[in-house]
Amino acid sequence: MKITGVQVNICEAEEKYKGIDRMRSCPHGVPGPLKTFGLATIFTDEGINGFYQIRAKDAHLFVEFVKNFLLGTDPFEKDRILGRFRPVIRRGGEWFPFHGYPIRVVGYAECCLWDIIGKALDKPVYKLLGQCRDKIPAYASSKHIPTVKENIEHFKDCISEGFRAFKLHPPSTNWIDPEIRRKISWKLDLQVTREIKRLAGDDVTLLYDPVNTYDREIALIVGKEIESLGFYVYEDPMPTSDIEGNAKLCADLKIPIMLGEQLDDLYKYAELIRGQATDILRCVLERIGGITSAMKLAHLAELHAMKMEPHSFGTQATQFAHLQVMLAMENNDFFESPVPQGTFDTDVIKDTIRIDKEGFVHAPEKPGLGFEVDEKKLKERTVKIIR
Ligand SMILES: [Mg+2]
Repeated sequence: MKITGVQVNICEAEEKYKGIDRMRSCPHGVPGPLKTFGLATIFTDEGINGFYQIRAKDAHLFVEFVKNFLLGTDPFEKDRILGRFRPVIRRGGEWFPFHGYPIRVVGYAECCLWDIIGKALDKPVYKLLGQCRDKIPAYASSKHIPTVKENIEHFKDCISEGFRAFKLHPPSTNWIDPEIRRKISWKLDLQVTREIKRLAGDDVTLLYDPVNTYDREIALIVGKEIESLGFYVYEDPMPTSDIEGNAKLCADLKIPIMLGEQLDDLYKYAELIRGQATDILRCVLERIGGITSAMKLAHLAELHAMKMEPHSFGTQATQFAHLQVMLAMENNDFFESPVPQGTFDTDVIKDTIRIDKEGFVHAPEKPGLGFEVDEKKLKERTVKIIR
């Protein structure tokens, strides 16, 4: 099998998204399209195509990358090429240290190629990686809301959707609107946190993610509070690069610290582990080079008796890719779901991921990444093609 072509359809999302406040839904720029997105396609000589959703602004880079490095190659031998873009591997002159492409572009391509491999073998990717489960509990990954009242309403909505776990992004994470941001302090975060705990009782698992907004002092104060309230995990309290500060926080708190979603270099995870700066690893798989990189990270964590919790927040393609990985690893507790469910969905992709009545997501059955593209809708929504 040979790769014969590449294209990105720049799509305008459907009318229903026009009114959505993107900033409240997704402030930190993961591939999460609402108004426009890119549908990437890699073509092969056997008529099997691999798809992924990418940021529209990455389309030109992606097309250039595939043309430069992948045209004419066999998708089944993807790591002959893509392996060289993982910074941690240094094979003499074969390593490409200064290739100039963001690793996420490599990650998009890698996901497309897994889609092709799975479709060629008529198996979902998790079966090829080695399936170990059929379903995973999901948590609602909260919007970034600046008031107590709206947070309470939002929490209730999530529980009525069926979620048994909830991750709070406290008001401090709503940094998009500077007017609102100025009025918010960690004290408001704690007010919201106590209200949410009061409503959740012991029935709902609570996670806490201030998206790296605290300094060392506040991170400890808030950490002690959520620890005493029985929160399950404390994600990204401070900047990930503060290895010493995070190590001290890990030592001072019993609640597990989780770091890693901003990193794009596997080597940095090894640094975090060596520095004892985190209890749990986390990744956005596109950002570290794709599905194979995420599996490497899962294994790295496993060998250090740690969990690895992939960040599955984003488009349908992102959600499906992360779910494939989770189904092939033991050391992960939760699937992260945007809320309300469907927030980032487009009808260009026929399949969606939804929780069942008990709050679980299930293994997709379709081959490859597990979703199908609706060619008719794709045509309708396409405003530009880059190839
Ligand atoms: Mg996070």
